[in-house]
Amino acid sequence: MKKHNFSAGPCILPNEVLLKASEAVMDFKGSGLSLIEISHRSKDFVDVMETARALALELLGLENQGYQALFLQGGASLEFLMVAYNLLETKAGYLNTGTWSDKSIKEAKLFGDVVEVGSSKDENFKYIPQGYTIPSGLDYLHLTSNNTIFGTQIKKFPTVDAPLVCDMSSDIFSRQLDFSQFDLIYAGAQKNMGPAGTTLVIVKEDILGKVSRQIPSMLDYKVHISKDSMFNTPSVFAVYVSMLTLQWLKNMGGIGAIEEINEKKARLLYSEIDLSPVFDGYANEGDRSKMNATFNLTDDKLKEPFEKMLKEAGINGLNGHRSVGGYRASMYNALSLESVGVLVDIMSEMERKG
Ligand SMILES: *Cc1c(COP(=O)(O)O)cnc(C)c1O
Repeated sequence: MKKHNFSAGPCILPNEVLLKASEAVMDFKGSGLSLIEISHRSKDFVDVMETARALALELLGLENQGYQALFLQGGASLEFLMVAYNLLETKAGYLNTGTWSDKSIKEAKLFGDVVEVGSSKDENFKYIPQGYTIPSGLDYLHLTSNNTIFGTQIKKFPTVDAPLVCDMSSDIFSRQLDFSQFDLIYAGAQKNMGPAGTTLVIVKEDILGKVSRQIPSMLDYKVHISKDSMFNTPSVFAVYVSMLTLQWLKNMGGIGAIEEINEKKARLLYSEIDLSPVFDGYANEGDRSKMNATFNLTDDKLKEPFEKMLKEAGINGLNGHRSVGGYRASMYNALSLESVGVLVDIMSEMERKG
């Protein structure tokens, strides 16, 4: 039986994507060779890379506006330092909304001054800070759009007279935004786009080339752009599966279409959390994430029966991150409304038992 996969990452991918990916591993386009045993310089793979890069820009509505899409390696964690390496000359602003922002701040401090414009660390990142002031003269402002661990999400982005950089690892392609308000977006593939091993970077070219330091080739966005994201051997499998997922998304109507389903899933789960006396939500209501819902049982005695029922229903990956505890239901694009329904049914049954 296929499980209901609520894992936070690596996470669920569409079935048809897994099927096509497995076929390509055995025989890529009828070539008699596997996708992962051909040259990345072959026309077939160059087509994959070009299609994936173009689709990413198309789905975000960023074609012909000076943006480049890159599929790099090193995860979102390498972007924490690459962003600073390429953009931080004197001072950058960071909004600290969770573990991942915290880590990006730590890396940026190696390259220049970091101004924490706001932080929700005082309440273990339950909320998104509001009404903070952004100083002028920043090299960029860095945000984390969705806080995977704590289950909060930025709903309204600040306007700022500096380049806006955003870690969208766990909510890219999940909701419609004016993506042109961002100058650099990065996202590890394994949350909402593909398998682990590649990171999508969308960068507006005109923000690059302004720092005085020398940048090693592998860490230089300009080098990757000049080589069409093929400076060295890319993660061919991860890029291919990301391309398939982006095609799947386009075929179902793009970000607007998936957003409607994501809204339904989130509404279904959060209304159960709010109505049920045996569950408590973790994040502030107004800041709740539509991707990762964090909640807890109000009575520890229910832990055992609840987890037993989850297991019997084939629900996977519901354990909260160790820094929050409780439960976390990750509802990425490929998770169906039906799977959320199965979880909610179990939660309402707990209510009867509780
Ligand atoms: C998972 C995650 C990361 C870390 O990604 P890696 O690819 O493992 O480096 C960074 N930021 C956010 C928001 C994440 O969810």
